[in-house]
Amino acid sequence: MSRRVVITGGASGLGLAMARAFLREGDHVAVCDADPAAVAGTPAGMRAEVADVTDEATMGDFLARIEAEWGGADVVISNAGIGGPAGPVEALDFADWQRCLSVNLDGAFLTCRWAARVMKAQGAGLILLTSSVSGLFGFPWRTPYVAAKWGIVGLTKALASELGPHGVRVNAICPGAVEGPRMDRVVAMEAAARGETEASVRARFAESAALRRFVSAEEVAASALFLASPGAAAISGQALAVDGLNERVT
Ligand code: NAD
Repeated sequence: MSRRVVITGGASGLGLAMARAFLREGDHVAVCDADPAAVAGTPAGMRAEVADVTDEATMGDFLARIEAEWGGADVVISNAGIGGPAGPVEALDFADWQRCLSVNLDGAFLTCRWAARVMKAQGAGLILLTSSVSGLFGFPWRTPYVAAKWGIVGLTKALASELGPHGVRVNAICPGAVEGPRMDRVVAMEAAARGETEASVRARFAESAALRRFVSAEEVAASALFLASPGAAAISGQALAVDGLNERVT
């Protein structure tokens, strides 16, 4: 039976890769995204709306429309996130810290609060949150992002414990460095902040992974499909790293 899947930040990058993966399974997919051009470019067959996950009213309207039309949701993926600034903590702007925490954590709160209500009523459901390997280790020069992504893992574990008795599973996916434009931007930002070449930052990221390589968006999407499959029925409260990253980071 086809599932009802909601994905935030789903008009590009990992969110879109996950949306495509669920579409291929024959599921109903609805995404929201803050980027109108990306929303306009989403493939046919999925529902896409412009909504900023940090805006309570806009998100409330988006989710209310889904609820009115679908009556609930089977899989909700809180995925929207931004990388935030790179640099030594004493050089960072408070506004950049706040924006990074807001998109990553406020957005997750608003999305999960809705998902918890509708899934408790259904007595079933899966919430996935996109954290990062930054939510498992202490990367230097990325304090806002690391703090936000550890926060996502904390939210995952608290929600899993709270919602488990109601038949709702909650897991985090922690991608490593994913090939694509987003990682290109992160590499460029870190290279500028550290005075290194982009090639050396890229090589350092790859070297710190057990597999010594970046991963693809499709590999991350495949982990979301697995967590939504019957084979993952007993998996909740977990933070699944999809990259084989070692703790050795410099
Ligand atoms: P991306 O920038 O390619 O895509 C993110 C999408 O989220 C974009 O379409 C963007 O418009 C949207 N978005 C940004 N702010 C938003 C907001 N306030 N409201 C709604 N939508 C918003 O990035 P991505 O790599 O696909 O990242 C997706 C998630 O994966 C993020 O949470 C990110 O932190 C996480 N992640 C990415 C990587 C990586 O290497 N790409 C690694 C680990 C974790």
